[in-house]
Amino acid sequence: MVDMEKIVSLCKRRGFIFQSSEIYGGTGSCWDYGPLGVELKNNVKRAWWRDCVQLRADMVGLDSSILMHSRVWQASGHLDHFTDPMVDCKFCKGRFRADKLEDARCPQKPSKQPGQHETCQLTEARMFNLMFKTFMGPVEDDAAVTYLRPETAQGIFVNFENVLQSMRMKLPFGIAQIGKSFRNEITPGNFTFRTREFEQMEIEFFVIPGTDEDWHQRWIDERFAWYPKYGLRKENIRLREHDKDELAHYAKRTADIEYLFPMGWSELEGIANRTDFDLKQHAQFSGKSLEYFDEESKQKIVPYVIEPSAGADRGTLAFLVDAYTEEEVRGEKRVVLNFHPELAPLKIAVLPLLKKNDRIVETAKKLMLDLRKRWHTVYDDTASIGRLYRRQDEVGTPFCVTVDVQTVGDDKGAADNKVTIRDRVTMQQVRVELDSVAAVMEKLMAGQWGEIAAEHGVKKSASA
Ligand code: ATP
Repeated sequence: MVDMEKIVSLCKRRGFIFQSSEIYGGTGSCWDYGPLGVELKNNVKRAWWRDCVQLRADMVGLDSSILMHSRVWQASGHLDHFTDPMVDCKFCKGRFRADKLEDARCPQKPSKQPGQHETCQLTEARMFNLMFKTFMGPVEDDAAVTYLRPETAQGIFVNFENVLQSMRMKLPFGIAQIGKSFRNEITPGNFTFRTREFEQMEIEFFVIPGTDEDWHQRWIDERFAWYPKYGLRKENIRLREHDKDELAHYAKRTADIEYLFPMGWSELEGIANRTDFDLKQHAQFSGKSLEYFDEESKQKIVPYVIEPSAGADRGTLAFLVDAYTEEEVRGEKRVVLNFHPELAPLKIAVLPLLKKNDRIVETAKKLMLDLRKRWHTVYDDTASIGRLYRRQDEVGTPFCVTVDVQTVGDDKGAADNKVTIRDRVTMQQVRVELDSVAAVMEKLMAGQWGEIAAEHGVKKSASA
């Protein structure tokens, strides 16, 4: 398993993820996605949205606001229950999450777990509410207090009736949402794994009570199969069932999908059976009925809810870590991000073999503009071809297309109107007709390198 430092350093060097407010020394608890990072994370979110919303007849989407009525957080139980145990160190003044001391580092040197230095003086644990408090409007008094949402789920529950009526939904159906959430984590860390501002991809799936256990299992299976579909190695994910004493106050059963991150197995997504807790609470606190009329039984019911709740940042980090590969090629280290083409931030790089040859440059740029209509394509002529390939490997671009003298012809030979396509994974190359590149790419993006290589014959090259 790659260590996190390597991922952090690659992410900074190649424009994936930067520390927030870095020029001021950074915050340590928030991160900014750079030009390639935003593409990668958007691709993760897009794949999730397409699979969970657009390809299903029983799902619709939502984008609710981050600031909500403060009563929402009373009803949901967050004001009373959304707490973590915290300990202070009287010696170094550090604050740590009492149940995750093994993940925390004491500011004293050498770096150790809090409590392990002789001078450490940890207090008894106290409960600390993780919600960020703020004020709505210009008056900073108690009546104006509200909170940044700590989960997107509540925005879905309070819109249950709106969606039900406007879209004429019938049970079972789900509402999905991707959006920012905020938690004043006591011990943020492990890069983007635990931050104070993060993005969630959540589904609330409403079902008839009694069918909830079956639907819960279906969603666990569905979500567990999703990550390998986009390249996560099966051996690096597992399911972990919550013990009874670990269950959240609203949950009947919860299973976490865990990923083998560099710091060990940790939660990637939680899938909970939230019962009818949330709808009942909001009905009680708002005074509005949040019932559903079941045509079959001719009865009003309060649906049960299955909640697959994933982190867009944790997902993105897992895809990054899993894609990271180091290998030796002809005595040199090759760093490759083996992203699934769907997730890769750049899909194709068009590279001119000689940047001083006008015909090569013109042909390459025209090809790039053409491919760009369909895939995120870049043009790069700022180094030798071997180095350009390595650069694209390091950011996970699945295919490079090279335009050379043979493509455009010169005094010694006629143009063959063919270009070289190079595969990131095998480093093999095939030569294909210029005007067939788009059609070939369509197949390659669908994972058909083997077929294309067999059809065109693999070309030997000095610059792998
Ligand atoms: P943990 O036990 O790691 O604190 P949690 O059980 O509190 O997580 P949930 O409330 O189930 O997390 O949130 C659902 C998902 O949101 C998590 O699986 C994770 O992917 C993401 N998530 C939660 N907290 C954070 C955070 N501080 N930073 C990044 N992602 C987070």
